[in-house]
Amino acid sequence: MAMALKEQTAMPHVVFIPYTMTSHITPLIHTARLFALHGLKVTIITTPYNALLFESSIDNDRLVSGCNITIQTLQFPSDEVGLPVGVENFIASPSMEIAGKVHHGFVLLQKPMEQLIRQLNPNCIVSDMFFPWTVDLAEELQIPRFSFQPATFIHQCAWHFLKEYTPHKKMASTSESFLIPGLPLAIKMKCSEIEDFLKEETDYSKTVNAVLEAELRSYGIIHNTCSELEPGYAQVYEKVRGRKGWHIGPLSLFINKQESKISSKESFKSNSCSDPWKDCRDCLNWLEDQEPNSVLFVCFGSMVRFSDDQLKEMAEGLKATNCSFIWVVREQEKNQVDENDHCDGWLNGFKEMVVQKNKKGFIIQGWAPQVLILKHQAVGGFLTHCGWNSVLESLTLGVPLITWPLFSENFYTEKLLEKLELAIGVGADVWNSGFIISSPVVPREKIELAVKCLMYDSEKSRKIRENAKLMAETLKCATEEGGSPKTGGPTSYETFLPSFNL
Ligand code: UDP
Repeated sequence: MAMALKEQTAMPHVVFIPYTMTSHITPLIHTARLFALHGLKVTIITTPYNALLFESSIDNDRLVSGCNITIQTLQFPSDEVGLPVGVENFIASPSMEIAGKVHHGFVLLQKPMEQLIRQLNPNCIVSDMFFPWTVDLAEELQIPRFSFQPATFIHQCAWHFLKEYTPHKKMASTSESFLIPGLPLAIKMKCSEIEDFLKEETDYSKTVNAVLEAELRSYGIIHNTCSELEPGYAQVYEKVRGRKGWHIGPLSLFINKQESKISSKESFKSNSCSDPWKDCRDCLNWLEDQEPNSVLFVCFGSMVRFSDDQLKEMAEGLKATNCSFIWVVREQEKNQVDENDHCDGWLNGFKEMVVQKNKKGFIIQGWAPQVLILKHQAVGGFLTHCGWNSVLESLTLGVPLITWPLFSENFYTEKLLEKLELAIGVGADVWNSGFIISSPVVPREKIELAVKCLMYDSEKSRKIRENAKLMAETLKCATEEGGSPKTGGPTSYETFLPSFNL
C-alpha cells in the first residue's frame, strides 16, 4: 500500500467526498466538521443541491468557530442523466429508477472530482464507501485514503460469515431461523431477512465487492458506531476484514455538543443536515401540550415509500392503540391511472378524525425535524425501520425503539437491538431490495400489539425504557475525553485524531 505521508508544512488538508444519500451525507459531514474543529484544513466536494443540506453548518463552523473548512461544488450532470435540475439526492427520488439516475450522475462526476482533487493536492482523502475509485487516486497521489462506513460492524461481520458458511442455503424454508456463525452475540435470522446479493450474484454484489476491495487497500475505515453498541464486534470486524476500523460514533453526539456551544454564543441558528429548523414550529408546539413520554414518533428514514395498503394498516394500527403519535407519511409515487384512489382521500379523513377531532396525532407529509422531535420530553418511543442514523439519534437521547426493518442492513440492526433489550419488534421479516416497499403488509394487529407493548406500562416496557436511558449515558461517556470505558479504543474524538498521525 503506497501510504507515504507527505511532508507537512502547514495544517494537513483533508478532502471529504459524501455520497447522494442523506443518511450517508450527515455522518460524513459530522466527521469533516470534527476534523476541522481539531485544526485540520477541510474541503468537502459535492454538488450544489447536496451542499444546501449542510452549508449553513459549515458557514457557522468557519465564521463562529474559526475553522478552516470549505465546500467545493461541481455541477451535477442533470441533462446527461435525464433528471430535472435539483434532483441530486435520494431524498428527492420517489422511485428506484430516479435513484439509479442520481447514482449514475455521481458515476459521471468521477473524472471532474479526480481533476479537482489533483488540483487541491490534499494530504488525505476521506470518501464515502461508495466511491471506491478514490483509493486509486490516493495511491497515485501517495496519500492515505479512509473509507467512510455510515452503519454497523455487525452487518459487515454477518456478511462475512454468511458468505463463508452459507447457513441460509441449508434451510428448508425461507421462514426458518438459523444462527449466524462467528458473531459475538448469538444472532438468529431468517432467509427472508437476508439481502438477495448474499444468495445470488446481483448487480449490487459487484458494487459491494468493489467497496470491500477498495477498503482492503485503504489506510483505514471510519465507522459511525462504538463498542458500547456493538460489544465485541470491532475486534471480529478487524480480524475478518484485515483492516483497522475506527469507531468514532455516535457522531450526532459530537455535533449536538458543538451546536449547543454555538447557540450558547448566541450566534445565528445552525441548520445541520440532521436538524432542519424550518417548517417545524407547529409540530413542536403540539408536543408542548403532551404528557412526558406519551408520544410515539413514527418515521422510516429519508427514503422509504410504503404502499397505500400498508399506510392504511399503519393508520388503523396506530389509531387502535389510543396512543398519541407523530407520523411522518411518505407514500409511493402514483401513476396517473390510480391517482384518484390515492392516499390523499383516506389520509385526509384519518387526519380529520384522529388529528383534528381527537387531537391524538400529528401527521407530517414531508421532512420532519427528527432530532428535535426525539429530543422532546413528550416523546417516549420511536417506531423506526432501523436506519442506523435514526437508531443512534434515538439511543443517544434515551428514546426506546419499536423496530420495523425494511431494507439495506436494517434486519441485523433489529437483531442487535433485540439482544441489547432496547426495542420491541413489529414482526416484519421480509427484506426489500430497495426503498420502495413491496414486502407483505404488516397487519394493524401486529402494529397495535408492538406499540402497546412499548408505550403502555409493564415490566417489559419499564426494562426497555431503563435500558435506553442507560445506553444514552453510556454513549455520552464513550464520546467524552478518554474514550470508551469498555474498550479503551479510539472511540473518543480527543484520542481519535492524533492516532491518524497526519
Ligand atoms: N430524517 C429527518 N427527517 C425525516 C426523515 C429522516 O431528519 O423526515 C433524518 C434522520 O434524522 C436521519 C436520516 O434522515 O438522520 C435517516 O437516516 P437513517 O440511517 O435512519 O435511514 P435511511 O434514510 O438511510 O433509510
